Parts: sequence; structure tokens; C-alpha cells
Amino acid sequence: MSSSPNETNDLPDLEAIREKYRVERDKRLRSDGSSQFHDLAREGSHNDIDPYVEPGFTREPIEQETEVVVIGGGFGGMLMSVRLRDQGIEDFRIIEAGGDFGGTWYWNRYPGVQCDVESYIYMPLLEELGAIPTEKYAHGPEIFAHAQKIGRHFDLYDRALFQTQVRALRWDEDEQRWFVTTSRDDVLRARFICMATGPYSTPKLPGIPGAADFAGHTFHTSRWDYDYTGGDTTGGLTKLADKRVGVIGTGATAIQAVPHLGRDAGEVFVFQRTPSTVDVRDNAPTEPGFADTLDPGWQRKRMDNFNALMDGLAQEEDLIGDRWTELTLGLYEELERHPNPAELSAAEMGLIAERVDLKKMERIRGRVEEVVEDPVTAAALKPWYRYLCKRPCFHDEYLPTFNRPNVHLIDTDGRGVDRVTAKGVVANGQEYELDCLIFATGFDVTTNYTRRVGYDIEGRDGLKLSEKWRDRTSTFQSFHTRGFPNCFFMMGFQAGLTPNIPHTIEEQSQHLSWLIRQMKERGLTAVETSEAAEADWCAMIDAGSGFSQLQQSCTPGYFNDEGKVGETAGWLAGFHPEGSEGFFTCIREWRAKGDLEGLETS
Ligand code: NDP
Repeated sequence: MSSSPNETNDLPDLEAIREKYRVERDKRLRSDGSSQFHDLAREGSHNDIDPYVEPGFTREPIEQETEVVVIGGGFGGMLMSVRLRDQGIEDFRIIEAGGDFGGTWYWNRYPGVQCDVESYIYMPLLEELGAIPTEKYAHGPEIFAHAQKIGRHFDLYDRALFQTQVRALRWDEDEQRWFVTTSRDDVLRARFICMATGPYSTPKLPGIPGAADFAGHTFHTSRWDYDYTGGDTTGGLTKLADKRVGVIGTGATAIQAVPHLGRDAGEVFVFQRTPSTVDVRDNAPTEPGFADTLDPGWQRKRMDNFNALMDGLAQEEDLIGDRWTELTLGLYEELERHPNPAELSAAEMGLIAERVDLKKMERIRGRVEEVVEDPVTAAALKPWYRYLCKRPCFHDEYLPTFNRPNVHLIDTDGRGVDRVTAKGVVANGQEYELDCLIFATGFDVTTNYTRRVGYDIEGRDGLKLSEKWRDRTSTFQSFHTRGFPNCFFMMGFQAGLTPNIPHTIEEQSQHLSWLIRQMKERGLTAVETSEAAEADWCAMIDAGSGFSQLQQSCTPGYFNDEGKVGETAGWLAGFHPEGSEGFFTCIREWRAKGDLEGLETS
């Protein structure tokens, strides 16, 4: 890419970069969008198992009346339960498919699993538990153990039905109750439902020909088979020493797992469709005196600081100081150079943001060149899109792994692998024979909600959620959708977007637990959004945020509905235009008014 003297900071020519990004995006656009993927359960795949529990668990079905059923035992369901308790609501049940609490951190136990968001802001309820993470970016087992600690500390274990999947949810208008049926033949009757089902709960496989034909060993990263590989989340995959291992996918999961495979497996083939941005990790153990420096309320202050910076809001200090917040700081540095930033038009601001983005991307691409010795491999590992088009990744060992003689990057120039055969994987027309094939192909984030959770929800007058949300997701405040009284969604769509998902969950839990308490105090049995309030909220979301505009120009991925922004009804189908801070302020102010504006009650 040529440099132009007209550009600041020796950056390449912006027009040429835009064209390069467009070309790279266009060659990845596909007509089948999100439907290119299959989910594990529907595949009938042997991946659809829980490798972390003893097989054969049984229990008697339960029939119970309860105030609240919380669906999901990840941080969403746990925080919701904790906040219900804060509001004096003790009568609730948690239904969870896994064998323990933890959600994402229960399922994802692949080698190297680690949090990419600073653990001091990511791990919930640190002050309440008197806990301090051991490192700036904690590893998976510590986060999973933290979830279990929350479960014990707040007495949630007695409320949980583990290894249980919801099969159907039906609202009974006469009884003003939800009927919940499960895979263990339970029947729960509940006044309220909290859908804490998480965005990354349904693993997906690429819908490539032959996926079921592979005769070797295969699994999805969220169902890691340590019996086969040996070792644990810290590595030591000794049983792979004489194996040829293929990995499909190069997203945040693969970035963390591939260094362990490179170290331990005989030979590794990494099949790449689009490279991720891989910035420095810069992890460090928590300094011994860290806890003594903290005042009460420190975690909240730190979370707010991160969030505001991610929303592009100027802050006096950057408490996190990492590669996430760097983007906003870069923007402010540029603005400070301008004589009169307040007078900049939206277009001028956009241009400055684009240059800051380009500067960051050039540094990330430069890092690939510095680290990866083989120039062809280095060129293939360079990402060509704007920074937030895909989930940013951070790792210090991923790129050097490609300098190992036993590790081969099989770049497919945006096409993806051709097919799977009994012997291995075909990419670029060549067959790679493998003993083991690992799918690091992520989770179903972009298809309709009911497909992702695996059951339908039947609201008032038999209205099915799959029908209501067939073409678009539509809510009021992200929680309510008309026709489904007392059913509250905590997914984050049409809410505020932040990489620190537990922060959104915390705000949503406080909001919903407050609402449930208000209903009890006011003697209300049912609440749902008015048609007008839902329409107004959707119109505001549709007006779009800076992020929605960016999504249009991005290379395909789950951040932009696989290149079909607005055509599907997935998790990222729209956000509050004022970012997560705007969303949090909006729901806080709504609570403070106390008149439940926009909701109809009975
Ligand atoms: P992703 O969806 O991010 O990545 C899936 C990968 O599979 C992509 O590289 C994709 O390529 C590739 N792929 C899909 N189909 C094909 C095909 N036919 N041929 C070749 N490659 C293919 O899943 P991950 O599990 O990596 O991450 C999911 C999310 O989980 C992350 O985005 C992040 O939010 C979260 N996560 C968080 C962590 C944390 O630190 N907290 C750690 C790990 C994950 P393409 O890009 O071209 O679509």
C-alpha cells in the first residue's frame, strides 16, 4: 500500500486503503449469509454433548409454582438472581443446560482460554465477594471458579436445575402465569421469566459438504476433548504429539488455543478464511499491593470509566489503559491537535476517526510483519478491515506460533475450506490428511432468537416469538416485546453495546429486579410494552449509531450479520444510538420517574 505525503503520521493513502478494504470484503460476501452455518444439535453431531459431566444423570421431574424462572446460569442468570435477592424476592428458580454455573466459562475450557477484557472490570461482584483476580486478564478456570463462588456466596445452588434444558414456554392469560416445560419433564408455573440465555450459547459448525464424513476425531472448541488431547486449559496436550491436527477458524478462540496446539501437536494446519487483528496481550499478575489502593466503589468506577471510553466519551483518566481504550485515547489526541474541535462537522470527525483507526490497523499489520518470519504467511495474516469490524484479539504467542516448522497456515483468501472428507480437509483444492479436526467456528449469534435458544415462546393468544421476530427483533428498552407479558429479555440486543458484557448484564439485572419488586408492591400481575413504546424504541434504534454505519462497510462476520446488516434478526441487530452509557442512563432515568411509562399493566 503506497504512502501519500498528504496523509498525517506517514499513513497510507486513505482512498487506497478504503478500496483494499472493499475488495477484501467483497470477496467474502456470500448470498447465504448466516445460513451458511449449522448448529451442533441440528447436525445431530456427536459434538452436542457435555464433556464435563458424568453421563447418565437422572432426577425426578419437578412440578412447582414460583415467582420467577431465570433461564440460564451464566453471569446473566446469576446476576439476575443476586439482584432479585437484593430486592427481597426469594422465590425463584434457575434453569441451566450445563452441569454447573458459569455459562460461557463453563463450556469454554479449551487450552489457553482467557478473558480479553480486564478481569477487574469483567468479573462481577468482586467487591461483594472481597475477591481480587490474580491477573489483569484472568484465565478461564479462575473465572469459572469465580462463578461457582458467586453461586455459593449468594446461595444460588439450591435454586438451580442443572443439566436441564427448557423445551417450551407458554403464557396462560387466564392464570397470568408462564408454563415452563423442560427436557426432564419438569413443569414450572411462574409469574415472570428472565431470559438470561447469553449471546454465545449455541456452538455452530460451517455448513460445508462432508462435515459428518470425517473418520478421525473431531470436536468444537467449546466441547474440548481432553481425553483425546491430554492436558488441560494450561496446555500439556501430550496425546497429540504424533497427531496431525486441523483447526478451522481464526477468531478469538483459535487465537488462544492455537499456540498450545503448535507447542504440543505433531503437525498443525490452521485453516483461515479471514485473519483477526492480533494486538499485544500485555498480561501481568495483579500487583501485591493492588487491593490496598482500592476505595469502596472501585469496581463500579472502573467499569464506568472503561465504558465511557469505549463510547468515545472524554475522561480525565484511563483507569484500564489497554488496547481497547487506546482507540478513544487516540481519537482525543488527534482532536487536541485541532484548533477548534467543537466546530468539526460529523464528516470531519468521521475522517479523524478513520485515520486513528488506520493508524492502529497499520501498527497491527506491522506487528505481523515483525513477528512472522515467512513473508507469504505474514502477508496472509494481515487483517484488512477497520478495527471494530471483527472482535479484536490480543495475544503474544499466536503470531510466533507460525514460525514453528510444524505449524502451517492454510489461507483460503476469503473462501473458507472447500469440504471435509473422511481423511481430512480440502482447502484451495488440496486435501490435508488429519487425525483430528477442531472446529473453532464460534457461536450462532446472528440467526433468529428462538433458533438460537432452541425452543419457541408462546405468548398471549398463541402468538409465537419465532413468528413475531421472524423478520426483525423488536423490543421496548431491549427487555419487553408486545404479546409476551412478564417475559424479560437480557440478551443485549437493542440495548447498549460494550465489550464488557457483564456490565450490561448488571444494569439489566438491576432494572428488571426493580421492576418485579415494583409490580409486587403495586399489586400488578402482568406487564407488557405498549405498541407505541415498542415502535418508538425500534425507530430510535433504526436511526442507527456510529457502529451500525460502520457495520455496513465491514468484512462479513457475526458483528455485521455475515455481511447482511439489517436482514437478519440476530444479537447485534441494533443498538442504542448513544452507546451503552446512553442506554444505561436512559433506563436509570426511566426508573427514577417511576411511572412505568411505555408499559401496560394489569
Ligand atoms: P468467531 O465467530 O469469532 O470465529 C469463527 C471463525 O471461524 C472465524 O475465523 C471464521 O472466519 C471461521 N470460519 C467460519 N466458517 C469457516 C469456513 N467455512 N472456513 C474457514 N473458516 C471459517 O468464534 P470464536 O469462538 O473465535 O469467538 C466467538 C466470540 O467469543 C468472540 O468473538 C468473543 O466475543 C468471544 N470470546 C471471548 C473471549 C474473551 O476473551 N472473553 C475469548 C474467546 C472468545 P470468518 O472470520 O471469515 O468468518
